[in-house]
Amino acid sequence: MDTQTSAAAKKPKVDPTLATEGGSFYAETVMIHPRSVKGMFRTWKWWAMGVLLVWWHVAPFLRWDRGPGAPDQAILVDMAGRRGYFLFLEIWPQEVYYLTGLLFVAAITLFLMSSLFGRVWCGFLCWQTVYTDLFMLVERLVVGDRAKRMALDRAPWSIEKLTRKAIINLIWLVISAACGIGFTLYFGNAPTVLHDIFTGDESAATYGAIAVVGGCCFMLAGYAREQVCLYMCPYSRFQSAMLDEHSLIVTYEDWRGEPRQPARKGASFEGRGHCVDCRMCVVACPTGIDIRDGLQMGCIGCALCIDACNAVMDKNNLPRGLVTWDSIANTAARAAGAKPRYRLVRPRTIIYGAIVLVVGGLIAYSLASRRTTEVNVLHERAPLFVQLSDGSIRNGYVVKVLNMVRAERTFRLEVAGIDGATFTVVGGAANVASTDLVVAPDAVGTYNVFVTAPAGRLQAARTPLAFVLREAGEGQTTRAESLFAGPER
Ligand code: SF4
Ligand code: SF4
Repeated sequence: MDTQTSAAAKKPKVDPTLATEGGSFYAETVMIHPRSVKGMFRTWKWWAMGVLLVWWHVAPFLRWDRGPGAPDQAILVDMAGRRGYFLFLEIWPQEVYYLTGLLFVAAITLFLMSSLFGRVWCGFLCWQTVYTDLFMLVERLVVGDRAKRMALDRAPWSIEKLTRKAIINLIWLVISAACGIGFTLYFGNAPTVLHDIFTGDESAATYGAIAVVGGCCFMLAGYAREQVCLYMCPYSRFQSAMLDEHSLIVTYEDWRGEPRQPARKGASFEGRGHCVDCRMCVVACPTGIDIRDGLQMGCIGCALCIDACNAVMDKNNLPRGLVTWDSIANTAARAAGAKPRYRLVRPRTIIYGAIVLVVGGLIAYSLASRRTTEVNVLHERAPLFVQLSDGSIRNGYVVKVLNMVRAERTFRLEVAGIDGATFTVVGGAANVASTDLVVAPDAVGTYNVFVTAPAGRLQAARTPLAFVLREAGEGQTTRAESLFAGPER
C-alpha cells in the first residue's frame, strides 16, 4: 500500500450529508425555558431546595462548646490551625483518611440510591439542580413563564429587554455572591468573617474564594444549566452502570400511551393510547428531553414530567401515572397484563448496602476508639550515623508528639530494640534534658533525640529500633518503629 492510500484509509469518515450540504459539526446551544408545573414532585423539589439552601447558609453559625481556647463553631475548617471541626470531632491533618472514608461511603451511598431510585440525587439534591431551579424561579418572577421568557429572548434588544435581563443578572449575582460568602464562612468564625467581608477587612484569599465560588455558581446555574449535566458531570456518563431492570426510574408507560394522538373534545380513548401528544412533559423538562423516547443520559430524574403529565391525565379524566416512577421490568409486566413487582432487595443493592454498612461501621469504630496521642519519628539522613571516639554509634531523630487533647500532658520516652542504647532529648518549647516530654494542649511537641548504641550490639547496618511513649499515670502507651543505622558488617 502506498502512503496516500494508507493516509486515505486512516482518514475518519465524515457524515456525507454534512459534506454535501456544506453543513457544520457545530450546533449552537439553545437556551431551555421549562414551563412551570405544579404537583407532588415539584413540591418536594421546593422543600429540598429550601432545606439545602437554609442549611448551607445557617450551618456555619451553629455553635458547639469545645471548652476554653477551642473554636466554638460546630462545622469549621481551620486552615491556619490545621484542624477540621465537625460537632464533637476534631480532625488533625494526619487523620485525613477519615475524610477519604467518608467520601467513599458517600459515593457508594450514591450508587445505592441510584440502583434503587435512579438519579434522585441529580433531580432533587445536587447543587447544580438546586441553584438552576432557583435561578429559573428568578427568571419566572421577573419575566414570566416559558412563553414570555422565550418571547423575550427572541425579541430585539430594547429598553425593556435590557432592563429585565439586567434585573435577572443582578439578582443572580446577589445569589451567587451569597453562595460564595456561604462557602467562606466554613473557614473561619462565621460572624467575624461575615462582618469583615462587608467592612473590607477580610484577606484577599477570602475575596478570591467568593469570586471563584460565586462566579462558578453564576455561570453554571445561570448560563450552562443542563449543559453541566449533559457534558461536564461524569456521573451522567456512568449512571447506567448502576441501574438494572428493577431500578425505579422516571418512565413513560408506552404500553398505555401508544398509539399517541391528540385528544378531541368528547372523543373516547377506546382503542388508542392515553398520550394526547400535548408535549407538556417535554416543555416542563429542564434538560429539554422527551421522556417518551425512553431512558436517556439527559434525564436527571427530577420527575417534573410526571407532574406535568398527571395534570394532563386529570384534565382528560384518565388515570394518573402515564409518566411515572417505575422499573423497566414492571413496565414490561404491566404491558403483558402481569402484576408488577417491586424488588428493592437485589444482589446489587445488597452489595452496595453492605459496603456502606461495613465501611461506615469501620469509620465509626475507628472514631470511637480513636487514639489521642500519636508519635512520628523521622531519622536524620545527613549524616545517617556518627561514630564516637569510644567506638559507639550515634543516630539522630526528630520525634514529633501529637497531643490531641485540650490539656497539657506529660509523656515518658523510652527506646527499645537495642540492648544498652541510651538517648538524650533536645527541643520542645524549651530545651529538655530529660526523658519527660511535656506537650502543650492540642499541639505538636517536636524534639531532637540522639540515640547512642555500643558498637558491639549492632548486628547489621540497619537495626530495628522502637520509640515508646508512656503517658504519666495510667495514660496511653504509643509506639513508633524506626531503624538504627551503623557501619556495614
Ligand atoms: S425527562 Fe422528566 S425526569 Fe427526566 S429530566 Fe426531564 S423532566 Fe426531569
Ligand atoms: S404530558 Fe403525558 S400526554 Fe402529554 S405528551 Fe407527555 S406523556 Fe403524552
